[in-house]
Amino acid sequence: MDLTSYAEWAVRLVNELAPPPELIRLRQELAAVFDAAGDERAVVARLNALLVRYPVRPQLSAHDGRPWHLHLAEDPAATAVMGLAAVVAELGADRLGRCREPHCGRAFLDTSSNRSRRYCSARCASRANVAAHRARRRQAS
Ligand SMILES: [Zn+2]
Ligand SMILES: [Zn+2]
Repeated sequence: MDLTSYAEWAVRLVNELAPPPELIRLRQELAAVFDAAGDERAVVARLNALLVRYPVRPQLSAHDGRPWHLHLAEDPAATAVMGLAAVVAELGADRLGRCREPHCGRAFLDTSSNRSRRYCSARCASRANVAAHRARRRQAS
C-alpha cells in the first residue's frame, strides 16, 4: 500500500485546471486543505473532516505471487484524503504547501530533508529569484 503515491495524485488533482466534472467537488475540498497550509491545526481539522466524509475501505489482496496484503478500494476521494493524511502523520502537517511564486500558487508536497521547499518547481524558484533581483535593483537606483 503506497500512500505517498495517493498523496501525489491528490496534489495533481488540486493543480488540475479542468478536472472531470465528477472530481470538481473533491478538488475544491482538497484545495482547501492546501489553502490552510502554514496553519497546522486548520490542515488537520480539514483532513479529519474529509476522513469522516470519505472513509477508506481496505481489502485484502494477493497477486503477482505476493502474500495477502492490504489495498484500499479504488475510490478517488478516499484514497486521496488517506494519502494526504498519511503524509501529515508520517512527515508533518508543514509538508503540505502552496507555491510562493505570486502568479503560481500550485500545491506541492515538501519531501525535502530540511522542510525548506517554497516553490512548486525549479522554474518558479528561478522566476521568483529574478523578480526579487529586479526589485532590489529598482530600490538601489
Ligand atoms: Zn497489491
Ligand atoms: Zn509554482
